[in-house]
Amino acid sequence: MRYLRFHHKDFVGYGRLEGDLIRAIEGDLFGTYKVTETTVPFAAARLLAPCLPTKIVAIGVNYKDHAAEFKKELPSEPLIFLKPPSALLAPEEAIVYPEGVTKRVDYEGELAVVIKKRARHVTIEQAAAAIFGYTCCNDVTARDLQKKDGQWSRAKGFDTFCPLGPVIATDVEPSQLRIRTLLNGDVKQDAPVSAMLFDVPTLVSYVSKVMTLLPGDIITTGTPSGVGPMQRGDVVEVWIEGIGRLRNRVV
Ligand code: MG
Repeated sequence: MRYLRFHHKDFVGYGRLEGDLIRAIEGDLFGTYKVTETTVPFAAARLLAPCLPTKIVAIGVNYKDHAAEFKKELPSEPLIFLKPPSALLAPEEAIVYPEGVTKRVDYEGELAVVIKKRARHVTIEQAAAAIFGYTCCNDVTARDLQKKDGQWSRAKGFDTFCPLGPVIATDVEPSQLRIRTLLNGDVKQDAPVSAMLFDVPTLVSYVSKVMTLLPGDIITTGTPSGVGPMQRGDVVEVWIEGIGRLRNRVV
Protein backbone atom coordinates (compact mmCIF):
# COMPACT_ATOMS: atom_id res chain seq x y z
CA MET A 1 0.00 0.00 0.00
CA ARG A 2 0.96 3.60 -0.50
CA TYR A 3 -0.35 6.26 1.88
CA LEU A 4 -0.04 10.03 1.83
CA ARG A 5 -1.45 13.20 3.32
CA PHE A 6 -3.19 15.67 1.09
CA HIS A 7 -5.31 18.78 0.86
CA HIS A 8 -8.24 18.98 -1.53
CA LYS A 9 -11.04 21.54 -1.21
CA ASP A 10 -12.09 21.32 2.45
CA PHE A 11 -10.40 17.97 3.15
CA VAL A 12 -7.04 17.79 4.90
CA GLY A 13 -5.88 14.36 5.96
CA TYR A 14 -4.53 10.98 5.02
CA GLY A 15 -5.29 9.05 1.88
CA ARG A 16 -4.52 5.76 0.22
CA LEU A 17 -3.15 5.86 -3.29
CA GLU A 18 -5.06 3.62 -5.71
CA GLY A 19 -3.64 4.08 -9.20
CA ASP A 20 -4.41 7.64 -10.25
CA LEU A 21 -6.87 8.13 -7.39
CA ILE A 22 -6.50 8.96 -3.74
CA ARG A 23 -9.04 7.39 -1.42
CA ALA A 24 -9.63 9.68 1.56
CA ILE A 25 -9.07 8.35 5.06
CA GLU A 26 -10.87 9.86 8.03
CA GLY A 27 -8.99 9.83 11.32
CA ASP A 28 -5.44 9.03 12.26
CA LEU A 29 -3.57 6.60 10.02
CA PHE A 30 -1.44 5.71 13.07
CA GLY A 31 -4.42 5.27 15.39
CA THR A 32 -8.05 4.73 14.55
CA TYR A 33 -9.28 5.61 11.09
CA LYS A 34 -11.84 4.80 8.46
CA VAL A 35 -11.18 4.38 4.75
CA THR A 36 -13.98 6.34 3.06
CA GLU A 37 -15.75 6.02 -0.28
CA THR A 38 -14.47 9.46 -1.33
CA THR A 39 -11.82 9.53 -4.05
CA VAL A 40 -9.87 12.46 -5.46
CA PRO A 41 -7.75 12.41 -8.63
CA PHE A 42 -4.09 12.36 -7.59
CA ALA A 43 -3.39 15.24 -9.96
CA ALA A 44 -6.01 17.44 -8.25
CA ALA A 45 -4.64 17.01 -4.73
CA ARG A 46 -2.00 19.11 -3.04
CA LEU A 47 0.32 16.74 -1.26
CA LEU A 48 1.42 17.41 2.31
CA ALA A 49 4.31 15.84 4.20
CA PRO A 50 3.09 12.23 4.54
CA CYS A 51 3.02 12.11 8.34
CA LEU A 52 3.34 14.35 11.39
CA PRO A 53 6.37 13.19 13.36
CA THR A 54 7.04 14.28 16.94
CA LYS A 55 10.72 14.03 16.02
CA ILE A 56 12.93 13.40 13.02
CA VAL A 57 15.95 11.32 13.96
CA ALA A 58 18.69 11.44 11.37
CA ILE A 59 21.69 9.18 10.93
CA GLY A 60 25.05 10.62 9.94
CA VAL A 61 27.79 8.86 7.95
CA ASN A 62 25.87 5.65 7.24
CA TYR A 63 27.31 4.88 3.80
CA LYS A 64 31.01 4.01 3.37
CA ASP A 65 31.39 5.93 0.12
CA HIS A 66 29.89 9.07 1.71
CA ALA A 67 32.31 8.75 4.66
CA ALA A 68 35.15 8.52 2.13
CA GLU A 69 34.08 11.66 0.24
CA PHE A 70 34.22 13.65 3.50
CA LYS A 71 37.36 11.79 4.69
CA LYS A 72 35.48 10.71 7.82
CA GLU A 73 36.24 7.58 9.82
CA LEU A 74 33.52 4.95 9.79
CA PRO A 75 31.54 5.15 13.02
CA SER A 76 31.60 2.10 15.29
CA GLU A 77 27.95 2.71 16.22
CA PRO A 78 25.21 4.81 14.54
CA LEU A 79 25.73 8.57 14.74
CA ILE A 80 22.38 10.23 15.47
CA PHE A 81 21.13 13.80 15.42
CA LEU A 82 17.72 15.49 15.32
CA LYS A 83 15.99 17.68 12.78
CA PRO A 84 13.06 19.72 14.14
CA PRO A 85 9.55 18.89 12.85
CA SER A 86 9.27 22.59 11.91
CA ALA A 87 11.76 21.84 9.10
CA LEU A 88 9.27 19.51 7.37
CA LEU A 89 8.42 20.37 3.78
CA ALA A 90 5.77 18.91 1.49
CA PRO A 91 6.49 17.55 -1.99
CA GLU A 92 6.61 20.30 -4.64
CA GLU A 93 7.07 23.02 -2.00
CA ALA A 94 10.09 25.32 -2.01
CA ILE A 95 13.29 24.89 -0.02
CA VAL A 96 14.13 28.38 1.22
CA TYR A 97 17.82 29.26 0.98
CA PRO A 98 18.61 31.08 4.25
CA GLU A 99 19.53 34.61 3.30
CA GLY A 100 22.89 35.97 4.46
CA VAL A 101 23.87 33.17 6.85
CA THR A 102 25.13 30.38 4.60
CA LYS A 103 27.01 30.13 1.33
CA ARG A 104 26.53 26.42 0.78
CA VAL A 105 23.29 24.45 1.00
CA ASP A 106 23.54 20.76 0.03
CA TYR A 107 20.99 18.09 -0.86
CA GLU A 108 21.23 14.67 0.85
CA GLY A 109 18.88 12.07 -0.61
CA GLU A 110 17.87 9.50 2.02
CA LEU A 111 15.52 6.61 2.74
CA ALA A 112 13.30 7.50 5.71
CA VAL A 113 11.69 4.98 8.05
CA VAL A 114 8.20 5.82 9.35
CA ILE A 115 7.46 4.42 12.82
CA LYS A 116 4.19 2.56 13.34
CA LYS A 117 3.80 2.30 17.10
CA ARG A 118 5.39 3.32 20.36
CA ALA A 119 8.81 1.66 20.45
CA ARG A 120 11.20 1.63 23.37
CA HIS A 121 14.14 -0.71 23.84
CA VAL A 122 13.18 -2.92 20.91
CA THR A 123 15.63 -5.55 19.74
CA ILE A 124 16.84 -5.82 16.15
CA GLU A 125 14.45 -8.78 15.78
CA GLN A 126 11.50 -6.72 17.08
CA ALA A 127 12.26 -3.71 14.86
CA ALA A 128 10.16 -4.78 11.86
CA ALA A 129 6.98 -4.72 13.98
CA ALA A 130 7.68 -1.08 14.89
CA ILE A 131 7.90 0.07 11.25
CA PHE A 132 4.90 1.41 9.33
CA GLY A 133 6.68 2.01 6.03
CA TYR A 134 9.22 4.03 4.09
CA THR A 135 9.41 7.38 2.35
CA CYS A 136 11.97 9.70 0.72
CA CYS A 137 13.75 12.43 2.66
CA ASN A 138 16.07 15.24 1.63
CA ASP A 139 18.31 15.99 4.61
CA VAL A 140 19.06 19.53 3.42
CA THR A 141 22.23 20.81 5.05
CA ALA A 142 23.99 24.17 5.26
CA ARG A 143 27.42 22.56 4.90
CA ASP A 144 29.46 25.59 5.92
CA LEU A 145 27.45 25.99 9.13
CA GLN A 146 27.76 22.28 9.89
CA LYS A 147 31.55 22.67 9.85
CA LYS A 148 31.51 26.01 11.67
CA ASP A 149 29.15 25.03 14.50
CA GLY A 150 30.32 21.50 15.31
CA GLN A 151 26.76 20.85 16.54
CA TRP A 152 24.49 20.26 13.53
CA SER A 153 21.19 21.69 14.80
CA ARG A 154 21.40 24.97 12.93
CA ALA A 155 22.93 23.56 9.72
CA LYS A 156 20.21 20.93 9.38
CA GLY A 157 17.36 22.63 11.21
CA PHE A 158 16.28 25.60 9.10
CA ASP A 159 12.61 25.75 8.14
CA THR A 160 12.04 23.83 4.86
CA PHE A 161 15.24 21.76 5.33
CA CYS A 162 13.34 18.46 5.61
CA PRO A 163 11.39 17.66 2.43
CA LEU A 164 9.52 14.37 2.98
CA GLY A 165 7.33 12.22 0.73
CA PRO A 166 5.62 11.81 -1.64
CA VAL A 167 4.06 8.67 -0.11
CA ILE A 168 4.68 6.11 2.61
CA ALA A 169 5.13 2.70 1.00
CA THR A 170 4.35 -0.19 3.33
CA ASP A 171 5.28 -3.16 1.17
CA VAL A 172 8.88 -2.46 0.18
CA GLU A 173 11.98 -4.21 1.50
CA PRO A 174 14.64 -1.53 2.10
CA SER A 175 17.63 -3.73 1.34
CA GLN A 176 16.22 -4.28 -2.16
CA LEU A 177 15.79 -0.58 -2.95
CA ARG A 178 17.88 1.88 -4.91
CA ILE A 179 18.09 5.57 -4.10
CA ARG A 180 18.84 8.33 -6.56
CA THR A 181 19.10 12.11 -6.25
CA LEU A 182 18.76 14.33 -9.30
CA LEU A 183 19.66 17.99 -9.52
CA ASN A 184 18.01 19.74 -12.47
CA GLY A 185 17.55 16.30 -14.01
CA ASP A 186 21.20 15.18 -13.64
CA VAL A 187 21.81 12.10 -11.49
CA LYS A 188 24.05 13.12 -8.57
CA GLN A 189 23.55 10.24 -6.14
CA ASP A 190 22.77 6.66 -7.14
CA ALA A 191 23.25 3.79 -4.70
CA PRO A 192 21.67 0.60 -3.42
CA VAL A 193 20.21 1.03 0.05
CA SER A 194 21.96 -2.25 0.90
CA ALA A 195 25.24 -0.29 0.92
CA MET A 196 24.27 1.19 4.31
CA LEU A 197 26.69 0.61 7.14
CA PHE A 198 23.95 0.01 9.76
CA ASP A 199 20.76 -1.46 8.33
CA VAL A 200 17.21 -0.36 9.14
CA PRO A 201 16.44 -2.87 11.94
CA THR A 202 19.74 -2.01 13.63
CA LEU A 203 18.96 1.72 13.46
CA VAL A 204 15.41 1.37 14.80
CA SER A 205 16.63 -0.76 17.69
CA TYR A 206 19.55 1.56 18.44
CA VAL A 207 17.47 4.75 18.42
CA SER A 208 14.70 3.13 20.50
CA LYS A 209 17.24 2.48 23.23
CA VAL A 210 17.96 6.22 23.39
CA MET A 211 14.52 7.78 22.95
CA THR A 212 10.99 6.42 22.80
CA LEU A 213 9.79 6.35 19.21
CA LEU A 214 6.18 7.34 18.64
CA PRO A 215 3.74 6.66 15.78
CA GLY A 216 4.65 8.76 12.74
CA ASP A 217 8.19 9.49 13.92
CA ILE A 218 10.89 9.49 11.26
CA ILE A 219 14.33 7.94 11.17
CA THR A 220 16.17 9.12 8.09
CA THR A 221 18.94 6.67 7.39
CA GLY A 222 21.85 8.63 5.95
CA THR A 223 22.98 9.62 2.50
CA PRO A 224 25.23 7.88 -0.04
CA SER A 225 28.10 9.65 -1.83
CA GLY A 226 27.54 12.39 -4.37
CA VAL A 227 26.20 15.14 -2.11
CA GLY A 228 26.66 18.64 -3.44
CA PRO A 229 25.40 22.21 -3.40
CA MET A 230 22.10 23.62 -4.62
CA GLN A 231 21.50 27.13 -5.88
CA ARG A 232 18.37 29.23 -5.94
CA GLY A 233 16.22 28.13 -8.89
CA ASP A 234 17.46 24.52 -8.81
CA VAL A 235 15.07 21.57 -8.80
CA VAL A 236 16.08 18.63 -6.61
CA GLU A 237 14.48 15.19 -6.70
CA VAL A 238 14.99 12.22 -4.40
CA TRP A 239 13.77 9.06 -6.06
CA ILE A 240 13.43 5.64 -4.45
CA GLU A 241 12.08 2.70 -6.35
CA GLY A 242 8.67 1.61 -5.07
CA ILE A 243 8.14 4.90 -3.22
CA GLY A 244 8.35 7.60 -5.85
CA ARG A 245 9.86 10.97 -6.47
CA LEU A 246 10.18 13.75 -3.91
CA ARG A 247 10.64 16.96 -5.88
CA ASN A 248 11.33 20.44 -4.54
CA ARG A 249 12.78 23.62 -5.91
CA VAL A 250 15.08 26.05 -4.16
CA VAL A 251 14.12 29.70 -3.72
MG1 MG B 1 22.01 13.14 6.05
